[in-house]
Amino acid sequence: MLDPAVDPNDPRLRPVPPREFSWNAIPASKAEDDIVKVSMIPSSDLDSPRNILINDPANTSRISIPSFSFLIQHEKNGTALLWDLGMTKNEKLTPVLRDGILKTFRVVPGQDVISRLTEKGFNVTEIEALVLSHSHFDHIGDFDTLPSETRVICGPGTLEAMRPGYPEDEQSEWWSKWFEERELVQLPSTDVTDSWTASIGSKLNPRNTGMRWQKLACYEHAVDWFGDGSFWIVNTPGHRVGHISALARVTSNPDTYVFLAGDTSHHQSLYLPVPTEGQPDTRTKVPFYPKSEGSKEMTSLDDDPIVNTQNIGRLTRLSAEDNIMVLLAHEGEVEGILPVWPEDLSRWKTRGWKEEKEEELKGNIARAKATGARIADEV
Ligand SMILES: [Zn+2]
Repeated sequence: MLDPAVDPNDPRLRPVPPREFSWNAIPASKAEDDIVKVSMIPSSDLDSPRNILINDPANTSRISIPSFSFLIQHEKNGTALLWDLGMTKNEKLTPVLRDGILKTFRVVPGQDVISRLTEKGFNVTEIEALVLSHSHFDHIGDFDTLPSETRVICGPGTLEAMRPGYPEDEQSEWWSKWFEERELVQLPSTDVTDSWTASIGSKLNPRNTGMRWQKLACYEHAVDWFGDGSFWIVNTPGHRVGHISALARVTSNPDTYVFLAGDTSHHQSLYLPVPTEGQPDTRTKVPFYPKSEGSKEMTSLDDDPIVNTQNIGRLTRLSAEDNIMVLLAHEGEVEGILPVWPEDLSRWKTRGWKEEKEEELKGNIARAKATGARIADEV
């Protein structure tokens, strides 16, 4: 939960200049097929108060945002991962969600991820594991829609935080039956510096038992999932315990990547545009909003907004690279620009999709400057 001691004016909540992050080279592809195919899958939309997502506390309007899952196909191995399962129907949520958070957010129901996949002829038994960016209800979907043998993988500390589940814990957002019915595996703590083989490596991924945390790009802890550099899972805590992201190589020679940032941010305006030397940095801070209607006490969607501010700065740093496109789980700015399943994102660079999805934000900032409006009014 959010530390109530965090002051929204804390200087550590200011956007972090990208130059503050050191850079570890991303290993180049060794073979043409050291890549994955990444497809974006919409599920339901989330209708939310705008000021929870965008830094503008006085604006009480609402905004509807998509919630994307991603199919990751490793064609060389003939396997696939599913990154998040989107949002589920209200009746599948535990009481604390139904009676609590859904008074603030509203789910705009759409087709579930698994039926979208099967409808286009995809055999979901090929999905080796569902990987959860984090444990929030709008990402975990409905496990009952998955084949019973599909494992669920989550970031360090997630399972301790979610056990024992409802009804043992009345405040839990997870059902306790999930812990009995399905194989749930979490990545080891980042304190584990050796290979994970001896502990849970083979359970996580039987084909790559040499997994270990390594430095990658501007991150301290990343794991090479398939052992060929095509898909890295990256430790990115701050939004919620166990929050993880992923760097997917979608083309080789030249190597280009898509970075799945989960809920590190809920809107482009927090990590874009990449500031240029000598120009004002127009990125906005992590949003704080009144804890309840009329309350003076402010809160944030992040468990630790100071830690997450660092991770948002890293998204800016990644965006400065010509061969990386960052994508948030709820990035509404991509709708109508990026293709969805069964299309994939491998052509993003040649098609100019990264620039195109940033264009709207830039246009809004330019408008705000021209009219003297606050940037947050326009984004
Ligand atoms: Zn979310």
